[in-house]
Amino acid sequence: MVLASVGTFVKDVLHFFFPPICTLCSGRLVESDQVICDRCRQELSHLMEPICRRCGSPSVTRASDTCPLCRKVKPAFDCARAAARYCGPAEQLVHEFKYNERLELAPVMAQIMYGAWQRLLAFDLPDVVIPVPLHPVRQRERGFNQAELLAAPLAALFQKPVISDAVVRVRPTLTQTHLGLRARMENVEGAFAAAIGSDARLRDKCAALIDDVCTTGATGSACAAALKKAGAGRVILFTFARASTE
Ligand SMILES: [Zn+2]
Ligand SMILES: [Zn+2]
Repeated sequence: MVLASVGTFVKDVLHFFFPPICTLCSGRLVESDQVICDRCRQELSHLMEPICRRCGSPSVTRASDTCPLCRKVKPAFDCARAAARYCGPAEQLVHEFKYNERLELAPVMAQIMYGAWQRLLAFDLPDVVIPVPLHPVRQRERGFNQAELLAAPLAALFQKPVISDAVVRVRPTLTQTHLGLRARMENVEGAFAAAIGSDARLRDKCAALIDDVCTTGATGSACAAALKKAGAGRVILFTFARASTE
């Protein structure tokens, strides 16, 4: 009890001399346990209707339309949605998280994703949460899988299990950044496989497939195809941000 109040006192003194600041804008935080400020949170640009009902791309003119890309090649996921556009504070957050390795940002990003899920997909909750796997060599180089770090706190919010070993990345792939859609699809084709064939944990389940950023959805679609092979009933690709393909 005494120790706890000493701890609070030390924290108060520390905060007096070193007030907690927002990771993104360095503005002062109202609550000491916040990581980003309310203004930065509000400035996250959400994807509003009209969006493609399948892949969530904003390149449609009417709600409930399907975009030209999805009409050309139907993705393997049932739908894809993202919490924010990949710009402004969302881009900054991903950058801090992934490239500056501020891994403590994962729970904040997961919280934002959880709020977005409720807004975009109502209360159509997933049964299982699955991070898009990295190739083992890539994961060793990076030291972590960003999708896994997001999936764990998100699954806790949904109160659903995380399954990280149902699909594996069997082939390393080039970074997709500078590739066009067709090249991206070829790059990830056959990159994922169901780990044990038919997987009882996935049978007829709705799987939330989690990643940090989605651009064309090619990676998500290739991974969703493997999940479907393993028996998943529905796959919803859900990412923190969506980059524009235009
Ligand atoms: Zn801020
Ligand atoms: Zn689409």
